[in-house]
Amino acid sequence: MKVCVVGGGGREHALAHVLARTSDVVRARTDPSGTGLSGIDADLYVIGPEQPLVDGLADRLRSEGRLVFGPGADGARLEGSKVWMKQVLHDAGVPTACHGAFDRAEPAVRFLRSLAGPYVVKTDGLAAGKGVLVTESVEEAEDDVRAKLAGTSFGDAGRTVVIEEGLRGPELSVLAVCDGQRALPLAPARDHKRLGEGDTGPNTGGMGAFSPVAEAGPQLVEEVMERAVEPTLAALGRLGVDYRGVLYAGLMLTAEGPKILEYNVRFGDPEAQAVLPRYVGDLAAFLAEAAAGHLTSEPAFADDACVTVVLATAGYPTSPRAGDRISGVEEAEAVEGVTVFRAGVERGPDGDLVTAGGRVLDVTALGVDVDEARRRAYRAVAHISFPGMQYRGDIAAGAVAPVMPGIPEEAEGS
Ligand code: AMP
Repeated sequence: MKVCVVGGGGREHALAHVLARTSDVVRARTDPSGTGLSGIDADLYVIGPEQPLVDGLADRLRSEGRLVFGPGADGARLEGSKVWMKQVLHDAGVPTACHGAFDRAEPAVRFLRSLAGPYVVKTDGLAAGKGVLVTESVEEAEDDVRAKLAGTSFGDAGRTVVIEEGLRGPELSVLAVCDGQRALPLAPARDHKRLGEGDTGPNTGGMGAFSPVAEAGPQLVEEVMERAVEPTLAALGRLGVDYRGVLYAGLMLTAEGPKILEYNVRFGDPEAQAVLPRYVGDLAAFLAEAAAGHLTSEPAFADDACVTVVLATAGYPTSPRAGDRISGVEEAEAVEGVTVFRAGVERGPDGDLVTAGGRVLDVTALGVDVDEARRRAYRAVAHISFPGMQYRGDIAAGAVAPVMPGIPEEAEGS
């Protein structure tokens, strides 16, 4: 089978890497004006990023008779509008944070002040994972509401804001592959959204991820499927949406049970990098079944673990710097079990790799367990450098036994 992976980031590199085990893979970037896909003739198109899905790329390809993994614009609205997503959740009876949606500051501020905190302010529209503020300070939340509504911080994506009660608990990502009728879960993952160690600093697109997650056994995954994913797919069906692609449930495991924080309409980035390398079998055939509306295979995952550590540029997430020369990638990839997915890189004039995006590289390692995968990933990270490189030294740290006093960690983050 010939598979075309659309999108140029680390998630798409991971997809291409795993699909290439069983199929011929070509990669295509999307451009704002067109699809960038003319001339590519593939048996299956897998669309990586959310923006082209929201813009209707899957619909355009399907109208040409092509087999596509990824929802049409109708289903992608689940990610393109948080207000609409909340409405669908409400109609489907799916547990989620209570919320209000506002396009004017006064009622928004009044609603904020009625909440107990922590306070959560989100842009309605797409903001590359960075449009969410979670804070204990009502003043900070109010300032954020005003900046978003004024269009100064996130442009039109913030002209409507969603304000939510802050939930507490560990997070979990469950990615389900859907064929319009059925949804089958992939192995759960946990990502790290904040820029700084100890979950501090601003939200980012994601600074690292790992899979499996010890407390997310089959029973919890079944609960998430029964209480959230399946009712959502059914609600979409009632709205006439034939949803074929990934339905990614971002969850908070609260004291009252799992609650949905958000849905994404594609593989997570960086969750895909931590989940897909563990896939056993023919991923291309599995995604093709979903794309054709007939899922029959069951996804299977190896018992080993995978950890991915994101290396980001100076200035990420607000003002990433481009053009910094990267060294040590080959040495990193020589570490056992390690693959370095290219997220935001290009070739400089002398042929060297240079930074070309906020998140630059995803240093990904397989191991017998999370501890081994983590050690391998950080051993590889230690080989790579570029000016201003930022990463977290605590990716997956909570998932392994604490380090014994006096025994230093192998590598520390910046
Ligand atoms: P989202 O893009 O909606 O998943 O939000 C990004 C991140 O913000 C999530 O991964 C959580 O860490 C945090 N977050 C979002 N909504 C809430 C909420 N209601 N309560 C607490 N944290 C939240």
